[in-house]
Amino acid sequence: MFHKLIKPLIGLCLLAVVYSVGSRVYLYHTHAQAPQVTIEGLKNEGYYKGTIEAKIAINNPYKIATIVAQLDQKPFQGIPANPGSRKISHTFSLNTEQLEYGEHTLHLLVTDASKNKNSGEFVVKFFVDNLPLSVTFLETNYRVDLGKTAHLKVKANKPLATATIKVMNQEYCCYADKPGSSSYECFIPIGCEETPSSHDIVAQITDHVGQTQKITANLEVVQFNFPKQKGFSVSAEKLAAEREISMKQDVLGEAITRWAKESPNQKLWQGPFVLPMQAKRMTTPFGEIRVTPEKGRYLHKGLDLANMPRSIVWAAQHGKIIIKERFAMSGNTVVIDHGLGITTVYAHLDSFADIEVGQDIKKGSPLGKVGMTGYANGYHLHWELLVNGTAVDPLEWTDKVY
Ligand SMILES: [Zn+2]
Repeated sequence: MFHKLIKPLIGLCLLAVVYSVGSRVYLYHTHAQAPQVTIEGLKNEGYYKGTIEAKIAINNPYKIATIVAQLDQKPFQGIPANPGSRKISHTFSLNTEQLEYGEHTLHLLVTDASKNKNSGEFVVKFFVDNLPLSVTFLETNYRVDLGKTAHLKVKANKPLATATIKVMNQEYCCYADKPGSSSYECFIPIGCEETPSSHDIVAQITDHVGQTQKITANLEVVQFNFPKQKGFSVSAEKLAAEREISMKQDVLGEAITRWAKESPNQKLWQGPFVLPMQAKRMTTPFGEIRVTPEKGRYLHKGLDLANMPRSIVWAAQHGKIIIKERFAMSGNTVVIDHGLGITTVYAHLDSFADIEVGQDIKKGSPLGKVGMTGYANGYHLHWELLVNGTAVDPLEWTDKVY
């Protein structure tokens, strides 16, 4: 009985051994795929300081013969050079203290022991940052008139992950002045109805390896005496007629606020802003105090520019058209987004040029013709410049290059 069983068992074992050896031999001759490598703890384009603890894992159908590991084209010792097995799971340390600030490359060439000597390359580009974070305001005291723009500058010793500024209960983003730069700027609107006083500016800075720093400066909001207008009025009939054919004025403010949040994190503009028409005269300056029967007392938060009826109005700067609509008060209105939350508004147009919402527009390209649609009693362009939704004096932006 026993003899009857042992023979087939030996036979089965032999078959298994022959099969196993046979499939290895078969694999040795036929395997043609590059080994796949995964590395945990060291990400491509990641930022690192101190010692990196990482793990290399390989699961290959045929055993791995060699791994040639190079850090910045020099031999790297942390990874076994001749593992000789199919499955590899090896933790290694990479001390970045000896490495310079900036980009580094770990390059692996993995070759298996099959007849084809299949090999695969694996490359990780990573950044090393062991620099202590250092950042300062370019000025410690910013004096800014009511209705003007505070242009804050922060200088760091390296490009940052985030930089935000808190002032007057608002938070603003800082932007690199050009890609890859470690100089940052922030535009803060000082509304013309703000109360003159002194404020703390607090910048919260974070670098790419998570180091943070808080720095402070001072913002002094300075009184500015805006001129008073004698007053004017628009007939009730005209206003009623405008309301009939227009969107409610509130919609414009809401739309601008919505768009400002989506404003690109880069300047679409170049050089100074230009006056958006050939103006014979400026009929109302920025911030003029008005009292009208329809709106009561308010400050005029734009510039009124006048020339012949239907003179061409053009874009003050490069940007993207975000609104083209008729509103009860501002009449036919175009709004352009210039990036970094800066927008310009062109109101009371007689008609629109051949432009569409969403299209890019160049500085000097036509937007429409001067009109008196909406709350206007004469042909003029009402031009506004908004910083994060707050109107500021546009002439500062035509004088300076931001
Ligand atoms: Zn106006």
